[in-house]
Amino acid sequence: MAGEFELIGRHFTWPVPAGVLGVGDDCALLPVSPGHRLAVTTDLLIEGRHFFADADPESLGHKALAVNVSDLGAMGARPLGCVLGLSLPQADDIWLEKFARGFRALAEAVGCPLVGGDTTRSVNGVVISVTAMGEVPIDAALTRSAAQDGDDIWVTGTLGGAHVALQLLQGHHGEHLGLLETLRPLLERPLPPVRFGASLAGLAHAAIDISDGLLQDLGHIVKASNCAADIEYPLLPVLPALDGLDASIVQPALLSGGDVYQLCFTAAPVARSRIEALACEHSVRVTRVGRIRTGVGINVLASPLPLSSDGCAGFDHFA
Ligand code: ADP
Ligand code: MG
Repeated sequence: MAGEFELIGRHFTWPVPAGVLGVGDDCALLPVSPGHRLAVTTDLLIEGRHFFADADPESLGHKALAVNVSDLGAMGARPLGCVLGLSLPQADDIWLEKFARGFRALAEAVGCPLVGGDTTRSVNGVVISVTAMGEVPIDAALTRSAAQDGDDIWVTGTLGGAHVALQLLQGHHGEHLGLLETLRPLLERPLPPVRFGASLAGLAHAAIDISDGLLQDLGHIVKASNCAADIEYPLLPVLPALDGLDASIVQPALLSGGDVYQLCFTAAPVARSRIEALACEHSVRVTRVGRIRTGVGINVLASPLPLSSDGCAGFDHFA
């Protein structure tokens, strides 16, 4: 691509922490602490599939990184750095400037410096690939298979906002369009609790970030851990802005709404007070919503509507 190197120099060359070799060489170099393992995660965002051509580039830059650092937090990993693959139909400086601004602001907020990437011209639309790396103490990672019988099930933040925002943008529930301004940042600028997630390493058992909906994502934990879960619907942390909306809107948003980028994790009941203290320290809301038990599947107790009729089961690209 013409001007590839100027483009990288202008938009994607930022200061990196001491000891890190960033943009400009054949590889980035990242120090990994003794006694730790490297955690690596990657996500692709495709124009027309994950975002629209007219999406706000600053929000897109934010979200491209947010969905990745969210996975680090869900593993109990502390961010070390990230690389950015960009495929663009043309080098639009104004678009790139905004994209880089959104990406950089979150990278600085969560301590995940951009250390490299690749930039090419695309045939069709924008493709964004981010890979984030972190470190987690050996044997302390929050794997999906680590839930134990009797564990509490916790959720960070609130649920429902991103899903209802998406529905409003898709033209549903027009009578609630006034909520869009409040809800839109939850969809477009999610703030995953990455440092809190890292602080749970060695304390919590299993964790996952809620990207495809609570039931689907918790479903991955119970399956991988060979156990079952009871969720108490009345305990779910509903976004306050959704108070008073019909259950036919709220229930699917809470149970199956994706794009949340908050954590669902399990931990022994003895860990409750330490978890609450850590949440307080990191200014993260945590709510106990149920319990892991022996068995299979997820049981939702006291939901306003029967589950099979809530019309949404989480997002699966190939379903
Ligand atoms: P190589 O020939 O080794 O693939 P490139 O010429 O593609 O290197 O890239 C030059 C440098 O710029 C490398 O350090 C690479 O990591 C970095 N880089 C390229 N694209 C990006 C990007 N979108 N964001 C951050 N760094 C990038
Ligand atoms: Mg290259």
